Amino acid sequence: MSSTAGQVIRCKAAVAWEAGKPLVMEEVDVAPPQAMEVRVKILFTSLCHTDVYFWEAKGQTPLFPRIFGHEAGGIVESVGEGVTDLEPGDHVLPVFTGECKECRHCKSEESNMCDLLRINTDRGVMLNDGKSRFSIRGQPIYHFVGTSTFSEYTVVHVGCLAKINPAAPLDKVCVLSCGISTGLGATLNVAKPKKGSSVAIFGLGAVGLAAAEGARISGASRIIGVDLNANRFDEAKKFGVTEFVNPKDHDKPVHEVIAEMTNGGVDRSVECTGSVSAMISAFECVHDGWGVAVLVGVPNKDDAFKTHPMNVLNERTLKGTFFGNYKPRSDIPSVVEKYMNKELELEKFITHEVPFAEINKAFEYMLSGAGLRCIIKMDA
Ligand code: NAD
Ligand code: ZN
Repeated sequence: MSSTAGQVIRCKAAVAWEAGKPLVMEEVDVAPPQAMEVRVKILFTSLCHTDVYFWEAKGQTPLFPRIFGHEAGGIVESVGEGVTDLEPGDHVLPVFTGECKECRHCKSEESNMCDLLRINTDRGVMLNDGKSRFSIRGQPIYHFVGTSTFSEYTVVHVGCLAKINPAAPLDKVCVLSCGISTGLGATLNVAKPKKGSSVAIFGLGAVGLAAAEGARISGASRIIGVDLNANRFDEAKKFGVTEFVNPKDHDKPVHEVIAEMTNGGVDRSVECTGSVSAMISAFECVHDGWGVAVLVGVPNKDDAFKTHPMNVLNERTLKGTFFGNYKPRSDIPSVVEKYMNKELELEKFITHEVPFAEINKAFEYMLSGAGLRCIIKMDA
């Protein structure tokens, strides 16, 4: 037992008091874990665009004050009642979508949409008692997607923690807790391109480039990257992207540009932007007869996906995925092993590092489109 088990821990956290305003470093009280919960000491976290969307709250449910963060690596500090498969000292990656291991989804080979712990961006409290474990002088601070990793300590449901090889460097594998697993799985588990096929990737951020990496691993011969930010293109070459399309360079719709480049359309496309117009283009640019498009980006609340039904009748398939269809507890330990035995490179996704006190810089990098993932070091 650690000396802090069962006690409130006072530690530093970066609190979002208001939408779109810089996070503020605060001393927060973190209550002990309740039944089926685990308190985790976060060592490294990184910023994903999903945090930024909900922090900006443009067309997203505003829930403030809140502690964001869902891409991270840490060590178990203490466990609540009923937790049997984790103990203090275990190395874990928190994941925004959980795996209870009991429901129909968890028992299905095809789904990772756990009935109990699937992503919920509107709930800012823990399931056990409907309350937050974070407070400042008694005022509750909301959780984000059950992870809230922008805090030195956080409380997470045991079903949202992947126990990983303790030899894996947490400052690298923390990016597998969301973005990189999501992009990789979207291609490998959902789009499933055949060897020699063509794949279009919309959005060349960390998620999209991980999707490109999946296409390269699958043996795709053409990987077409689509992005509005021309600076992304040089970086994308390192990820096996072979051709580039910037929609701004063309006066016709991007799906027509891609159809011309590929004699009727790509075999697979993966959308990693969050823009609904890119989602529609990603669907319309796949070849009729066999094309499959996979949506990954998180849309705005009021977005509607609009396409002519003929595009579907013509035997195109539209799919979507959270977390690349990986089940966090069952599958993520083996994705970490792919990094450990050098099948998967993570270093190239990590373009910046900042100490926790400078977390707002990570937001600036993402908003200006500079770099891919920024690692935030908690103890620096
Ligand atoms: P990012 O901001 O680093 O990258 C997004 C890229 O898309 C940027 O390079 C941007 O220039 C480009 N882009 C934006 N609009 C575009 C358009 N209309 N056409 C072409 N390119 C466009 O973000 P990220 O962290 O890589 O995340 C990508 C998306 O995936 C976000 O929407 C994020 O919320 C989502 N996401 C989903 C899941 C999931 O499980 N489904 C998990 C993680 C992230
Ligand atoms: Zn994410």
